[in-house]
Amino acid sequence: MIAQVQPLTTTRRLSGPFDYALPEAPVRVGSIVRVPFGRQALDGVVIGLAEHTEVPAEKLVAPTSVRVDSVPADLVELAHWMATEYCSTPARSLQLVLPPKGRPRTEPWAFRTDAPLDGERLNDNQRALLEALPMRATGQLPALRRLEGRGLVAIEDRQRRRAPRTDVQPSAPVALTPDQEAAIQAVEGGGEHLLHGVTGSGKTEVYLRAAAAALQRGEGVIVLVPEIALTPQTVGRFRARFGDTVALLHSALGEGERYDEWRRLRTGEARIAVGPRSAVFAPVADLGLVVVDEEHDSSFKHEGDPRYDARTVAAERARRAGARLLVGTATPRPETWHALPHLRLPNRVDSRPLPPVRVLDMRGARHPLHPETRRALASSRKSIVLLNRRGWSNFLSCRSCGKTWECPNCEVALVLHRAENALACHHCGHRERVPERCDACGSLSVARHGAGTERIEHELREGLDVPVFRLDADTAGAKDAVPELLARFRAASSGLLLGTQMVAKGHDFPDVTLGVVLDADSTLRFPDFRAEERTFALIAQLAGRAGRGERGGRVLVQTSAPDAAAIAAAARHDADGFLAGELERRRALGYPPFADLIRVVCSSEDGAPARAAAGAVAAAVDGLPRTEVLGPAPLFRLRGRERFQVVVKTGEREDAVRATGTAVDAAARDRAHREVSFSVDVDPQ
Ligand code: ADP
Ligand code: ZN
Ligand code: ZN
Repeated sequence: MIAQVQPLTTTRRLSGPFDYALPEAPVRVGSIVRVPFGRQALDGVVIGLAEHTEVPAEKLVAPTSVRVDSVPADLVELAHWMATEYCSTPARSLQLVLPPKGRPRTEPWAFRTDAPLDGERLNDNQRALLEALPMRATGQLPALRRLEGRGLVAIEDRQRRRAPRTDVQPSAPVALTPDQEAAIQAVEGGGEHLLHGVTGSGKTEVYLRAAAAALQRGEGVIVLVPEIALTPQTVGRFRARFGDTVALLHSALGEGERYDEWRRLRTGEARIAVGPRSAVFAPVADLGLVVVDEEHDSSFKHEGDPRYDARTVAAERARRAGARLLVGTATPRPETWHALPHLRLPNRVDSRPLPPVRVLDMRGARHPLHPETRRALASSRKSIVLLNRRGWSNFLSCRSCGKTWECPNCEVALVLHRAENALACHHCGHRERVPERCDACGSLSVARHGAGTERIEHELREGLDVPVFRLDADTAGAKDAVPELLARFRAASSGLLLGTQMVAKGHDFPDVTLGVVLDADSTLRFPDFRAEERTFALIAQLAGRAGRGERGGRVLVQTSAPDAAAIAAAARHDADGFLAGELERRRALGYPPFADLIRVVCSSEDGAPARAAAGAVAAAVDGLPRTEVLGPAPLFRLRGRERFQVVVKTGEREDAVRATGTAVDAAARDRAHREVSFSVDVDPQ
């Protein structure tokens, strides 16, 4: 027998697997081994076992070691599928399903042996120790060791769990509403479902019941949530209902905690994995249910290679395992709406109405806050204000010669951050001092355009006497900063939470009576077919944060595009109307879900090699049936690299993905393109 090992390298230029002799330690599919490879040693994953090899016996070597932890075989297969589906490599996909770094932490425990105590001379301390057994031996180790020497006590190492801290949310059992009851019935029937429930309609209770039913059947569960720091409540409610059966997997855990949680799932000690995107790879056996909460959230898309979408991977994993799939949101994506049967929770649990939304026309306005917004903020004790743009001003220009300040590495304007006296690039992180004068003409008159969260915070602090809490990527720095800020806002008797889209996530603050969206059309201005969908979701989600308590609430939306369909529909809380219109538009334009998109970006320091590589990819893909190849088209320079993109728009997904993968692999191997980096995005966001 030989082991087929896929070495874990990142290059596209090497394609395994390679054959190795079996080592002494047992290996199976999913074993992680160290293998000699040329003159180096690499980690690899066993992806198959075979009877025969072409490698001559004298050249066949064995792995030098085998790790204790292995990847479940079904995840090895899932990684294989991902490599093809996202035009990546098996090695890069396998990286995602590996156990986290770390090892178990053990500590000595002492037990009583069978040896009789009759005739033993024991002092009081020894007697007390023997009575206290079994116990953790760390405190009394020398005394226990002496008893061990006399055969009265046995000491052995036991694994010690490093458990992540979570706020367990009290969750009293509730009587289900008829809508919840119907949704659970449907989920129990099996298959895939979209749970479309307005904010506050009790979706989480449906997930909890479906999870309980799966456990009852002896099945495991995966629950995917957006960033944990922003939505600790869902995790807390699972913990409260299921206790230590829940393992929490996310990147902000310490290395030891993350390892232990993974290990508890791998051994079956924990049966429910809760976590963000990467938890879709949790080692849960006998998977019976996969839940995706807030399925519209863009954090489910991974930005590294493979650019997987956890929602798509979740669906695939559920299909392969024969598990139920349940995706929930108040603002479904058009793709999901189109693909899955709907379960509806049309009302908030307490029958409280959704807050009325008023659209404020900002065309011609000179001040970033509408007078009505000012009045409403002044008379509201607790409110949330969303502005999806951080910093002070979005760009600077010279009043005399018109120069604008751009990033030296990227073709984008630098954003003023006044508190740090810096101009910053939001793409590459470049920073420079704020200019005192124009370096082109010497003028002292530099204009600041637009307003970001930093400037609005300043305005609000001047004009209001409630504390202002700002939540954006600039204030979210330290590890616990976000949960702490949210907890302070929750506890405050009055306050204003101001920030980017982070403030519109699933928060549940019952005493917030006012929600405000500033510059609601900013997301509409992106040249992207998802601009409408994003704008609708952002406004509807923010509206969902207001009026959750007895005092009700209302929402104001400032925009210079008051008639835009996405904004008008969000103001009516009309998800069905929005989705129907949006799907019509997508059908007419041939966008997803009526076609699939694949985006290839080629980049290099100078433009020519990237353009040539993109041209080669486009030519290689051209000619497939029901497929259109757009480009190469230039993109703005990013991090010092010129970029060209090719977009493949296809009605034959499988063929087009395969052809694009082959074309990119061929281009990457071609020496003519060796300065070029390739990035492939199937189903770009
Ligand atoms: P969603 O996830 O749809 O926004 P939640 O699940 O957070 O809504 O539910 C909102 C609130 O209603 C929560 O405090 C939850 O405990 C409560 N809730 C859910 N279902 C019921 C029910 N059947 N009866 C009473 N309260 C409920
Ligand atoms: Zn100038
Ligand atoms: Zn830059």
